[in-house]
Amino acid sequence: MTDLWIATANPKKRVELERVLAADRYRILTIRDLDEPIDIVEDGDSFAANAAIKATTLAKITGKPTIGDDSGICVDALDGAPGIFSARYAGPGKTDRDRIDKLLAELAERPDAPRTAHFTCHICLAGPDGVIATFEEHCHGTIATEPRGEEGFGYDPVFLPDEFAAETPHPSFAQLRPDQKDEISHRGRALRRLVEYLSTQTP
Ligand code: IMP
Repeated sequence: MTDLWIATANPKKRVELERVLAADRYRILTIRDLDEPIDIVEDGDSFAANAAIKATTLAKITGKPTIGDDSGICVDALDGAPGIFSARYAGPGKTDRDRIDKLLAELAERPDAPRTAHFTCHICLAGPDGVIATFEEHCHGTIATEPRGEEGFGYDPVFLPDEFAAETPHPSFAQLRPDQKDEISHRGRALRRLVEYLSTQTP
């Protein structure tokens, strides 16, 4: 097994990353596996910048190939918000449910606006000398009027992916099986591109 460091401390994101990567001969290590945990300040102005900050900061410590992943949901009627601020949308110390409630409240103030949105996932692969490769993928859909489903994390209960639009009722990400989400999600798509890239690099 090849070790792959991932610059995340989010246990739910780790589960998704591990689902795709561990199945493919990689052993995942994260910030939580460091002897002295670090806190990486995400102060970039784009998904790409934040993913690079995370990957390069951890790669300097591990000295090994390291991945930084930055993701979020961009809602058209809110000019792309919450975007890179998805994890902090309702302020510090808030829950996923608080962030969903804020998003639904913002959209309720715009009843005539389209509810289209997309998730973005930007993955940066870095080594101790800097960025090696980057992969960005999206998943398009609409925002539901109320949360549905228990799977996944974050905004999953209110995101209705376009790929399942023909189903009645239209399932949210949180109502899909994990493998169904991985197949179409921004993160699943970006990770599969990363795995493909790594397979061409490692002997
Ligand atoms: P970060 O990439 O750790 O800065 O945070 C990304 C945030 O975007 C998460 O905390 C979630 O709120 C949201 N997010 C990213 N990907 C997903 C997803 O697949 N489902 C639901 N929410 C997500």
